[in-house]
Amino acid sequence: MSDYADNADSRIYRTIAADLAAARCARPLLADFHCHFCDEPIGIELLFCDSDCRDDFNAILPLRGARGSSPSS
Ligand SMILES: [Zn+2]
Repeated sequence: MSDYADNADSRIYRTIAADLAAARCARPLLADFHCHFCDEPIGIELLFCDSDCRDDFNAILPLRGARGSSPSS
């Protein structure tokens, strides 16, 4: 029984370590008066025009493997 728990602990540790390493290498998003997902102009210093764009951007991050680039690039 402890083998299952040990394997689960090891898998959790590897997942967290990989995510931390990716986060440390990620470029921070900077407000550039455009939505980072749909590229719509934004009048104030925000990263996304609404929560849908933010959620969609965060959903595709693992698929893109890098943070800070727009989906159109
Ligand atoms: Zn947007």
